[in-house]
Amino acid sequence: MSQKHAVVIGSGFAGLSAATHLASKNFRVTLVEKNESPGGRARKFNHQGFVFDMGPSWYWMPDVFEKYFAAFDKKPSDYYDLIRLDPSYAVIYGEHDLLDIPANLDEFKQMLEKIEPGSAIQLDKFLEQAAYKYQVGIHDLVTKPSRSLFEFTSPSLLADMLRMDIFQSMAKHVRKFFKSEKIIRLMEFPVLFLGETAENIPALYSLMNYADIALGTWYPKKGMHEIIKGMVSLAEEKGVNFLYNSEVEEIEIENGKAKRVRLISGDKIEADVVIAGADYHHVDKHLINPKYSNYSEDYWDKRVMAPSSLLFYLGINKRVKNLRHHNLFFDEPLGPHADAIYTNPRWPEKPLFYASVPSITDSTVAPEGMENMFLLIPLAPDLEDSEELREKYFHIIMDRLEKITDQEIRSHIIFKRSYAHSDFKSDYHAYKGNAYGLANTLTQTAILKPSLKNKKVSNLYYTGQLTVPGPGVPPSLISGQVVANEVIKENN
Ligand SMILES: Cc1cc2nc3c(=O)[nH]c(=O)nc-3n(C[C@H](O)[C@H](O)[C@H](O)COP(=O)(O)OP(=O)(O)OC[C@H]3O[C@@H](n4cnc5c(N)ncnc54)[C@H](O)[C@@H]3O)c2cc1C
Repeated sequence: MSQKHAVVIGSGFAGLSAATHLASKNFRVTLVEKNESPGGRARKFNHQGFVFDMGPSWYWMPDVFEKYFAAFDKKPSDYYDLIRLDPSYAVIYGEHDLLDIPANLDEFKQMLEKIEPGSAIQLDKFLEQAAYKYQVGIHDLVTKPSRSLFEFTSPSLLADMLRMDIFQSMAKHVRKFFKSEKIIRLMEFPVLFLGETAENIPALYSLMNYADIALGTWYPKKGMHEIIKGMVSLAEEKGVNFLYNSEVEEIEIENGKAKRVRLISGDKIEADVVIAGADYHHVDKHLINPKYSNYSEDYWDKRVMAPSSLLFYLGINKRVKNLRHHNLFFDEPLGPHADAIYTNPRWPEKPLFYASVPSITDSTVAPEGMENMFLLIPLAPDLEDSEELREKYFHIIMDRLEKITDQEIRSHIIFKRSYAHSDFKSDYHAYKGNAYGLANTLTQTAILKPSLKNKKVSNLYYTGQLTVPGPGVPPSLISGQVVANEVIKENN
């Protein structure tokens, strides 16, 4: 039988995963990417000895990466060297109030016990449930294509799901175990990765705490982009043909079938099947004839998007003190900032922010004696984005960063690049300038997410952080595999 030709749009984690899985199952695969380099939101750039990861910086759920590479008889260590960070990260609650989060579980418990007596035992109970959710959630639920309720109706899975706290909020769940505000904030932090606050995220996602506390925070030496490099090398080994600087302008559809993709250059690529790893809204609304769209503009407008972000990539000509590799600045209350993201979208008055300094762990990402710093403020999608606003917020967080860590940083900056809504839109066609896709709220979970298949075009599929299973690097990797399995099932 002649090989079927799959065209994959986008070289993010999801597109790379889908392309590699298909190529390893006898599809001829062409991957088209609008940018000049692979990785999508996980690209990198270099500037005079500084190597900046542009997006993800937290390597969580190492087992998901192991499983990904194992599907091709490989290991992450065939492509990159991982180290476990210790402390995993630091939480800064205010001046002289920094908590180093130890990687070791016993030390973690001792730390909690000092804050709230009795909390170590509570943590054991909390983690026991979280471990169970992780096993069922990450190794079973997320691998479902979520195209029908029937996928979830096996008696054992139904019983599992009843134990998974799907209908309780994470905020309530955490408060059943802990009373200290400090511990509650620590336990609620991981769900921020899912694009909403703990009030609106199902307690199922305490599985993220298991990932954080039990499985640990890891770092690939030379940076997160090493994962992309490894994935591209594996994809090439399986025969995937990469076309960079190749933006798709239209997916041409005839008689209910995607026939070919037309690039901005005018070139056309014939296809037996198309898998769109570019932002779902962009594909659904801009790359296909509107009569084939899966969803209306109104539908999209009502989705809860995960936040956008204002980012700064900084090169600093000295070593910094009082900072770790990952630093969460929780020195202001979360409530007003969350309100500015989700309820009354606006630029926040007193933003929380995150600072990453990978050069503290890795001397290869900055010139000797210097520091590589990445700052991130989560923001509501679709806000006005201007140079003036970026500068204003740069100084708001720098004032706090310098005061809390007791040092001058601004006068040592020798490279600075900002990145926000308009960049997400122009670089990735991100709907409303989102950074992390669609939030994992209860009403946007599993079959309630935008479907991974087009309902009117029999050979057009979607993958990535706006469809199942959700935002983040591990889910995007899984999304590519889930869609590839559907394609293989339906096209053989
Ligand atoms: C600042 C930031 C920090 C993050 N931090 C973390 C973290 O620490 N840990 C974590 O797990 N996750 C993190 N995430 C989330 C994670 O990076 C994403 O969920 C994941 O990378 C999304 O992958 P994707 O393949 O779905 O999409 P993308 O990476 O966006 O890939 C889509 C690709 O499609 C391409 N494309 C778009 N339109 C077209 C077109 N018309 N033609 C051709 N190509 C097109 C784009 O250029 C892009 O390369 C972060 C994200 C951001 C932005």
